[in-house]
Amino acid sequence: MASPDRPQQPDARRTAAAAAAAAAGEGAVAAPLPAGSTSPALLPPTERFAARTAGMTASEIRALFAVASRPEVVSLAGGMPNLAALPLQSLASEVAELVDVDGMTALQYGSAQGVPQLREQICEVMREEGIEGDPNDVVVTVGSQMALDLLTRIFIDPGDVVLAEGPSYVGALGSFAAYQAQVVHVAMDEHGLVPDLLHDALESLSRRGITPKFLYTIPNFHNPAGVTLAHERRPQILDLCRRYGVMVIEDNPYGMLGFTGEVHPALRSFDPDVIYLGSFSKTFASGLRVGWALVPPLVRDRLVLAAESATLCPPSFTQMLVSRYLSHHDWRSQIKTFSENYRERRDAMLAALETYLPEGCSWTVPDGGFFVWLTVPAGVDTKAMLPRAVTARVAYASGTGFYADGFGSRQLRLSFCFPTPERITEGVRRLAAVLEAELDV
Ligand code: PMP
Repeated sequence: MASPDRPQQPDARRTAAAAAAAAAGEGAVAAPLPAGSTSPALLPPTERFAARTAGMTASEIRALFAVASRPEVVSLAGGMPNLAALPLQSLASEVAELVDVDGMTALQYGSAQGVPQLREQICEVMREEGIEGDPNDVVVTVGSQMALDLLTRIFIDPGDVVLAEGPSYVGALGSFAAYQAQVVHVAMDEHGLVPDLLHDALESLSRRGITPKFLYTIPNFHNPAGVTLAHERRPQILDLCRRYGVMVIEDNPYGMLGFTGEVHPALRSFDPDVIYLGSFSKTFASGLRVGWALVPPLVRDRLVLAAESATLCPPSFTQMLVSRYLSHHDWRSQIKTFSENYRERRDAMLAALETYLPEGCSWTVPDGGFFVWLTVPAGVDTKAMLPRAVTARVAYASGTGFYADGFGSRQLRLSFCFPTPERITEGVRRLAAVLEAELDV
């Protein structure tokens, strides 16, 4: 933590001195030694990072963020929730009241497992998807991303195999890479993960004496594929995992953002051993960073220890704000409003794809969530095309970022969650023109 009476770090001083010298046109200068030091630097010239950090790569989406967020660019790249429908005025009153009434608790450290009242309310939220959870088995995390990272930390030794859909969520792949897991992808079709292909993967690993640590799966409104796992496949997938001794991590941040009113039963509703991840990022506000894991007691104790070592406890303030929101607001109808907004945007995107895209393209038709997954004709490389798309003022997320093995060069993800329907239409029109140009070459 920065502190006014703490001496500046030597490398920061050196950087400042070098920058000042460069600004004055002096070229390279010897860095001043920190007082009392016989060595020129605390950070030695050889790289001292842990070997596991070699697997950490910048997300292409984040790398693109600065360009893609220029106003003239229609960004279909990021998956930012559209918060326009949030009742900001009444949330402002909740914040004020939280400080007024519960400030001494809300501004204090809390339990590493999360605020007890919120954990009870989370169980009420999960009941909407058929899950009967015990508040004692809920661990509140800083977004479900943190739950993913901590679960990977407690389960993965370097080289362990993890099964994940192909494509899969880029943030999960980042955590798996950071802990040196080997990801084996299992393909999906328009009905989600294909049980026969999961069986093939399990069987071929088993023949090599490998038991994957877990299957990481996003059954509903998949990020990035946009598809939903068919109901009849859900028990089949669990049966296969049980048979081969593989744990299941079900990640479900979009489950309540369906467009048809149909409720998709969570995998966790079939089996209490499934590890379930949920989040308020898409159903309320992503900036509050409140997510959770519902885990069997055996996992819970280690997960809480890991959470404690990562953050001591999740923020009391945002947890208590979410709790007040759930108590005082009609959150079910708020989620409905969000879903209606997303549905309108999904419709605009599908109509534009149909109207503008050249022959040979195909795409998924999502019934909820934020994303369409697009496959382009052979010969087009979506990663190589991206700078040309940005020049044409449209951005997307190229497919290779969603695979751990370099696959996906003919795929890309389009997000319809954030821009207006008009901007989405214009963005797809621009993308179609870029694709036409690629195909003409
Ligand atoms: N899982 C999936 C599939 C996601 O798409 C996201 C967010 N993009 C997360 C987890 C993490 O969400 P958060 O940390 O905001 O809860």
